[in-house]
Amino acid sequence: MSITPLMPVYPRCGVRPVEGDNCHLIDEDGTRYLDFAAGIAVNLLGHSHPGLIGAIQQQAAKLMHVSNLYGSPQGEELAQKLVDTTFADTVFFTNSGAEAVECAIKTARAYHQHAGNEEKYELITFKNAFHGRTMATISASNQEKMHKGFNPLLPGFKYVEFNDLEAAKAAIGPHTAGFLVEPIQGEGGIRPATQEFMTGLRQLCDEHDLMLVLDEVQCGVARTGTLYAYEQYGIEPDVVATAKGIGGGFPLGACLATEKAARGMVIGTHGSTYGGNPLAMAAGNAVMDTVANEEFLAEVRAKGERLRSRLEQFIGNYPELFESVRGMGLMLGIKMKVEPRPFMVHLRDNHQLLTVAAGDSTLRLLPPLVIEDAEIDEFFEKLSAAAADFEVPSDS
Ligand SMILES: *Cc1c(COP(=O)(O)O)cnc(C)c1O
Repeated sequence: MSITPLMPVYPRCGVRPVEGDNCHLIDEDGTRYLDFAAGIAVNLLGHSHPGLIGAIQQQAAKLMHVSNLYGSPQGEELAQKLVDTTFADTVFFTNSGAEAVECAIKTARAYHQHAGNEEKYELITFKNAFHGRTMATISASNQEKMHKGFNPLLPGFKYVEFNDLEAAKAAIGPHTAGFLVEPIQGEGGIRPATQEFMTGLRQLCDEHDLMLVLDEVQCGVARTGTLYAYEQYGIEPDVVATAKGIGGGFPLGACLATEKAARGMVIGTHGSTYGGNPLAMAAGNAVMDTVANEEFLAEVRAKGERLRSRLEQFIGNYPELFESVRGMGLMLGIKMKVEPRPFMVHLRDNHQLLTVAAGDSTLRLLPPLVIEDAEIDEFFEKLSAAAADFEVPSDS
């Protein structure tokens, strides 16, 4: 047998973390890495937050799981926090981002079909988006590398250019149910939606009675310096998918909706065995108690600005490597003039700095939101040493 016990769908690297220490990861062999990947925007409280750990430990000892057939004081508490701090009136809890997007897609379709508009099932989505790896969520993305081998796709998605409002408008037809969009494309390369685009989509939805569905799985939960990124655009969505950071490392996602948008999500229409179980709710409540306040959010914005302005200064030293810095808060990307992947590997293997490569030649920086100035200093030490001894591969 040559297949590995772990199904070989990931190109796993040689770093094998066994322990976390705040913003660092420690490998099997004891090597310490500065973690500016944070499990891809997941570990927003770092790896050793006492509040989060304590909440999970206490809840695990008390009650881990019961069915959604029973009442959920733990779920009501977290749902109420999300309702109080966002546009939403109601919440469905999931175990992952893709499931949160699935629920958002079903909510948008059911909004129309519940009212008898059976023909309105299509979501307009945007090129280079990433919405997850289930059949519906790969169908929602135009990226062919995710489709290969998995046809036929789920019908009901139409792809248009990101940030092209005219194209979005032109794509509206008799089957359109709404738009599904990331306010900041993450995997696509830390590409923020323009103000005009987001305002325009909101207007189109109001004019045509369409659902504005946001995928904030990566950019949500304080990552950009507001609890959700839509706040910075001054608009309110109808449905939002959230996950990644919301459990701080515990698998948790949620679909948030207004009362109006959720009109089709009635008894029996959706479900999940694990979704919203008491253990997950303990993690989510601990994260929300830490991040959903103006003091924490202001800190994220301030750290994001410090990191960004130092980065902008720094990249000027290596114009042959770096082009620009983009993103919001602590969701930052360096657009590179060379392939980002070899540089990401060099940072990781030769300088013990973990980052994530993304589309559009971009290196992603997604540190825990609890980083301090000392870690930002350490980051720049590693980054400058790495830029100084990087040899651009000849085929790049
Ligand atoms: C990561 C991600 C997803 C999928 O989340 P999973 O938890 O991996 O299913 C969906 N949308 C966006 C924007 C993401 O970044």
